[in-house]
Amino acid sequence: MPLMADKIKKSDKEWKKELTKEQYRILRKKGTEPAFTGELLKNKKTGEYVCGACGHRLFSSVDKFESGTGWPSFSRPAKDDSVAIKNDFSIIIPRKEVICPKCGSHLGHVFSDGPEPTGKRYCINSAALEFKEKKNKSNNTGSKK
Ligand code: FE
Repeated sequence: MPLMADKIKKSDKEWKKELTKEQYRILRKKGTEPAFTGELLKNKKTGEYVCGACGHRLFSSVDKFESGTGWPSFSRPAKDDSVAIKNDFSIIIPRKEVICPKCGSHLGHVFSDGPEPTGKRYCINSAALEFKEKKNKSNNTGSKK
């Protein structure tokens, strides 16, 4: 995929220095935050969700839905190649791991019990994400220039 060209490669030491303890544990060590604790779980603002490690655009607020699982859930990535998928056999039930295609960081898993039309549920750690709010430009009746 074309994103390979700008792949970010950093040493474990560098990541550890740049990220918070929780971000490092999840993004670089494939950790999972406890359910219902993520800051962005209930975020309903309009904007983009980017990788907490490298800033790569991953998901859009339009595809976020309330799954009831306790983790931010999306029905699809922002674009088809916004995320990369890897087989994860770390537990008995095989899962599909969702990773950032740019820096290789762990984001969460994707399951096939999501809402139509995609049927997918991208179950993502809030701590792996950063939210960039998009201010509404078409409805700025209160602002004067
Ligand atoms: Fe990344």
